[in-house]
Amino acid sequence: MVRGKGKGVVLRRGDAGFDAAVLATSFNARDPGRRPDIVVQANDVGDVITAVNQAREHKLKITVCSGGHSWAQNHIREGGLLIDMSRIRSIEINAVNRTATIGPGCISGEVNAALAKHRLFFPVAHAYTVGLGGFLLQGGFGWNSRMMGLGCENVLGIDVVLADGSLVHASATENADLFWAARGAGPGFFGVVVRYHLKLHARPKFVGMKLQVFRQKHLEEVFSWADSVGPQVSPKVEFQMVFNHRCMGIFSDGIEVYAPVLADSWKEAREAVAFIDDSPIRSRASLTLPLMPFSLDFMMRSGEKTLFWPGVRWFADNMWLDGPITPLLPGLRRIADTQPPHPSHVLWLNWNPPPQREDMAFSVETRTYLALYTAVRNAADEAKYANWSTEHMRALSEHSHGIQLADENLALRPAKFMSAANLAQLDQIRAQRDPQGLFHAWMGRPDQMPNNPTAS
Ligand SMILES: Cc1cc2nc3c(=O)[nH]c(=O)nc-3n(C[C@H](O)[C@H](O)[C@H](O)COP(=O)(O)OP(=O)(O)OC[C@H]3O[C@@H](n4cnc5c(N)ncnc54)[C@H](O)[C@@H]3O)c2cc1C
Repeated sequence: MVRGKGKGVVLRRGDAGFDAAVLATSFNARDPGRRPDIVVQANDVGDVITAVNQAREHKLKITVCSGGHSWAQNHIREGGLLIDMSRIRSIEINAVNRTATIGPGCISGEVNAALAKHRLFFPVAHAYTVGLGGFLLQGGFGWNSRMMGLGCENVLGIDVVLADGSLVHASATENADLFWAARGAGPGFFGVVVRYHLKLHARPKFVGMKLQVFRQKHLEEVFSWADSVGPQVSPKVEFQMVFNHRCMGIFSDGIEVYAPVLADSWKEAREAVAFIDDSPIRSRASLTLPLMPFSLDFMMRSGEKTLFWPGVRWFADNMWLDGPITPLLPGLRRIADTQPPHPSHVLWLNWNPPPQREDMAFSVETRTYLALYTAVRNAADEAKYANWSTEHMRALSEHSHGIQLADENLALRPAKFMSAANLAQLDQIRAQRDPQGLFHAWMGRPDQMPNNPTAS
């Protein structure tokens, strides 16, 4: 699904095509039932400024969408004005300075393809159609982010339309409060980003992947091994495991072990993924493929073809984990045994972040990441599976250190997504920059949790 084609228009409830225009903003095919009063499909920055001014004058709360990949459909709220930024998607590359200026409606695959022509690189999202607009605001766990940093750490500045209708630039030295907030606030940001200024990198010379597949009966051994080896795995490798009902090679329930690697040579890549061939559980694997070169473009497109299907109803939830693996194994086994049909899947990611990052709103991450993605293909199954991801995350919540906003489900399960100090600082900045609360914030917050653990 690539949106943002054709000239944008303004549609109101009751207009022909209104419902379709609202639902087309969402990668998730679920109809949340909510509807804004007005949708503004912005064609340029002038349209955004006009929409913000009109919303303020008519006391309409604003939501914004770019690529529309919020699993929770955060931008579709009841009432108010929705600004659809998918048409603002220019890409300007300065190959000499290694910088780019892009519109928020740009999608990851297109930005990657444009940069590849210059042998340049940006840590875009893993799936082809994810919008840069929302991806960069929530942090941005992109390709090679363990080496190059989160997407938001590679943002040099933003141009943003504020609640008073002004267009300002924010960077480390100008409107630094907005710049701080825009790197981690995610769906709680209080302005419309109309341009991102990005820092680019040299393109890794080798891009490829190693794959191994285990039957589900080996789950406990596979997770124990992965957990123990994870901290030593090179940051050039995005070591992750996916369990689903249609695993590659065995076409049934199993665990796919992926080791995508972005390195400077074949040799370096081979060494980085050697931990898979050297593993003590290798003999249990049903399939071990050699390291193979792929284009990033292929890997981004194939993720959406195999697992992240458009056109189905999605329900996601997630958590950061940091403790020993053994107490988690019964919960992981329950998750595997009850997993809804394909393309539902579970992701375990070896993250192991650097000891320190810049000061910015983004502030919650740990050693490993677990996310559950429920896909419902038939409307009749929606009630049966809608809560599966959230119920299993709730059951494991004593082990959780918070969540990623990338896969948030805050309306159903408020959880910690930012340190308490950063959340308080963000609230202060919001109060100054958007005193009337024109922009919607997250659909749930940590201080709405029953035991309010924001102080932790
Ligand atoms: C198939 C799939 C794969 C994904 N892969 C990854 C991944 O590899 N890494 C990762 O980190 N995340 C990933 N995500 C999560 C994704 O990055 C987030 O959902 C992100 O918010 C999507 O950005 P978007 O612009 O497409 O979404 P949108 O739904 O358009 O935006 C999400 C929210 O961001 C805010 N927003 C968006 N644009 C603007 C703007 N211009 N100005 C102000 N606020 C804005 C709004 O609050 C909006 O509700 C994936 C999601 C999907 C569905």
